[in-house]
Amino acid sequence: MTVEERGWALPAPGLVWERGHTPFAARFGDIYYSREGGLAESRHVFLDGNALPQAWQNRERFCVAELGFGTGLNFLSTWELWRRTCPPGARLHYIAVEGFPLTREELGECLAPWDELKTLGRALLSAYPEPQRGFHRVFPAVDPGERGAVSLTLLFGDAKEMLGQLEADVDAWFLDGFAPDKNPDMWSAEIFAEMARLSASGATVATYSAAGDVRRGLDAAGFDVTRAPGFGTKREMLRARSRENVVRTTSLQPWFARAPQEPSRGHAAIVGAGLAGAHAAAALARRGWSTTIIDRHPGVAAEASGSPRAVMAPRLTAAPAFDGRFYAAAWRYALADLETPSQDFEHARVGSLQMAVGEDAGRFADMVSTAALPNSFLTHVDAEEASDIAGLSLSHGGLFFPQGGWLQPRGLCAALSRHSEMLLGVEVASLAHAGGRWRIFDAQSRVVAEADAVVLANALGMMRLPEAAALPLAGRRGQVTLAPTTAGASALRTVLLYGGFLTPAYHGLHAIGATFDHVGTDRMDMDVRAEDHVRNLESLARVVPGLFAPSPDLGGFAGVRCTSPDHMPMVGPLPERGVYMEDFANLRHGHPWARYPNARYQHGLYVMTALGARGVVAAPLAAELLACQITGEPWPLERDLVTALHPARFLVRELKRRDI
Ligand code: SAM
Repeated sequence: MTVEERGWALPAPGLVWERGHTPFAARFGDIYYSREGGLAESRHVFLDGNALPQAWQNRERFCVAELGFGTGLNFLSTWELWRRTCPPGARLHYIAVEGFPLTREELGECLAPWDELKTLGRALLSAYPEPQRGFHRVFPAVDPGERGAVSLTLLFGDAKEMLGQLEADVDAWFLDGFAPDKNPDMWSAEIFAEMARLSASGATVATYSAAGDVRRGLDAAGFDVTRAPGFGTKREMLRARSRENVVRTTSLQPWFARAPQEPSRGHAAIVGAGLAGAHAAAALARRGWSTTIIDRHPGVAAEASGSPRAVMAPRLTAAPAFDGRFYAAAWRYALADLETPSQDFEHARVGSLQMAVGEDAGRFADMVSTAALPNSFLTHVDAEEASDIAGLSLSHGGLFFPQGGWLQPRGLCAALSRHSEMLLGVEVASLAHAGGRWRIFDAQSRVVAEADAVVLANALGMMRLPEAAALPLAGRRGQVTLAPTTAGASALRTVLLYGGFLTPAYHGLHAIGATFDHVGTDRMDMDVRAEDHVRNLESLARVVPGLFAPSPDLGGFAGVRCTSPDHMPMVGPLPERGVYMEDFANLRHGHPWARYPNARYQHGLYVMTALGARGVVAAPLAAELLACQITGEPWPLERDLVTALHPARFLVRELKRRDI
């Protein structure tokens, strides 16, 4: 069954408490941990079993993967050890699969007995996502300064399917599914094959099970297995190490192959100081990269990201289609990202009310019944409830996102770029790659920056560079109207969305937006036009009449947003078009993958753009993905979503359509 057919919801494990103190999953007839020695067992089997902490000495980053996450006890025991013993500045990736997630409340109950893990447990609980199918990357941290040092990627869904969607280089595996005879799905040949595919060189495995089938299965998949003394009354457990001579398989189509990995710490030049560039810089800075942001304008966020108000609301789909899955993940990620306290910028988390206009009513009801986002993220409201929330009389109900609201992207961009060197007022005219480094030139052919990697985040501006000129980007002019508040509008308490948007008054002004007009890719079109104010007011008045009248006091802002033909962002390495079209000229014939070389990219050159009108929601997760692609870290999204965002996808579609 595909993800689309399965829907968003996940089955529950049926947590009950055995003898009042041992958590037990009724669905599997097995316990999560033993009350007497759960923590000691975790340390013996999984930490000692994988030779931790020795294995992570001298490592800048380390990756653990666990099957399954359960109560998070193994995660906490690993994190606790990591905090005491990790090399300075090192980063831990902990990936865990879980098909039957406990709720946050249940997790809290299960972690309560472990006094010595209380502080970490609290941090885990506050980062723990709502059970929803898909990948969830969160950053549990005891204090905000630590955020990002440990990344927890929860893969909520069936183990085989979720591992099949993962791209990572795992150093240590924890096999902790329920007992193999009770739950053979977690110990199958397919799971062991996925582990072999995902193992870094020299990866180790530990499991409490000593079952012969597990031993033979791991061996057949390419691991050398040894028996070791088990914990407590268990005589034996298994340890294993991936064999060096195993040929690694890949699940990535060669035309979307991973780009060669950059150094784990380097210098990046980021072209464009809007939301895309600022988020990319922040994601790399979290990894210890130094960054230079270059922009042709004298200040940050001078083009589309300069809008005085960006509204925060996800774009959902009832069935888990690519765009709905990406935006649901991006929304969860963006909300957590915005909690980071050091980001000081104008914003109001007043909620966003997406009104059900036209045919939306049925679609919205489907989104709620299929749980496109869990209930804590959205509520379905009728017109009366919507009116109560909004403080205005509304004739439509819709979806209310309580964590939504608006923010001022320029302030956010400034906060995000505070660790970057800024080269403002500098137009990038050309790039050259030589000796493993990029040199970036201005119009006078002066070198303005040198870098290991370059991220093009300058929207339509990148089309002037030959390296990116062929990308199928398009411009959409958008004008936002700023209107002085009125007697009717001043009561508004939340952001209204109805195709357009209206924000509550802030310093006496409402933002009403936005137009969405095709423009050429070479046009800036930032002039504010009276006729576009009229269109904004008219589209609002069709849904909520009588709030504003055209007046000479209207102000506004206009910018050109960058979009792609399928309306999904473009994130990832940039292919060399000529070479790529030759290498994959026969793509439409459907040859086996092995007949193709891996995609060749312009070394160290990446793109992050086409965020359309959803930059505030899409950019944080897109930037995290980009940083992982650059540094070779585990991807925060399912592989099929990463390829749906890949800049080469349009070349692939072109090649598949060719009939020569
Ligand atoms: N490591 C956990 C801890 O520290 O609390 C305990 C894990 S518990 C023994 C096994 C876990 O595997 C359960 O949480 C269960 O829901 C999960 N699981 C079982 N079968 C699965 C499957 N087919 N796919 C994904 N997860 C599965």
